Amino acid sequence: MNLHLETVVELQTAITQLREAEQRLSSVPDWMRELHGEHVARKAEIDALQAAAEAASKERRTAEAAALDAQEKLKKYQQQINRVTNQREYGALLQEIDTVKTQISTSEGQALSALERHENAEKDLTEKRESFRELDERYSGELARWEGEKPEVARQIADLKARIATLRSQLPRQEVSIFDRILDRNPSGALAPVRPIERPGRTQREWACGACNYRVRPQTVVEIRNAGQLVQCDSCKRILYLEPEPQAEA
Ligand SMILES: [Zn+2]
Repeated sequence: MNLHLETVVELQTAITQLREAEQRLSSVPDWMRELHGEHVARKAEIDALQAAAEAASKERRTAEAAALDAQEKLKKYQQQINRVTNQREYGALLQEIDTVKTQISTSEGQALSALERHENAEKDLTEKRESFRELDERYSGELARWEGEKPEVARQIADLKARIATLRSQLPRQEVSIFDRILDRNPSGALAPVRPIERPGRTQREWACGACNYRVRPQTVVEIRNAGQLVQCDSCKRILYLEPEPQAEA
């Protein structure tokens, strides 16, 4: 394999490792994913319960205020009874009193039901918080372990970045720019291995691009091995390379 291609292969490997390390640093590690999921779910349950308790409490206060309001009105209407001068006014006032009494009873009912809901939610909340404590402690322990691993990953990231800079400086500018352009277009990797195609009955070896399966001419394979410049796939334009030990034909 030519020297530049070897450097490009190393560059791609380092870039892939850098991405993996950055991913590791910014996301929940595999070994605590399950616990993290459980923690998030239980925490959400508690938050929802707390929101329900607060909503019930607010509803109770609103209903109690409405009941008080209606009671004030009722008092006022009852004082007016002595001052009515005719049957029509009397009838109208009785109607108002009736309405306001219904309002009182409705609001008091609402306040009572909201109070019950609030109490139930608080009781559930206490139980859930109790049983959450153990999980939360375990979670905090694992979080601390994860935090403890981060400096090592950060160090790997710094090393990889330095290595990437060195490898880039070892390549001609033009080849770096070709590489970057292809990587831009194919974020999963700018390189594709050349793979032999298994065709029973054929004596001559045939080759294909490992990324897009487009045929690679035998002459191109020779070029990749010997030429001093990068060779791209005719179809997907990825930089072609030969894997260290291609499988022998059966
Ligand atoms: Zn291709």
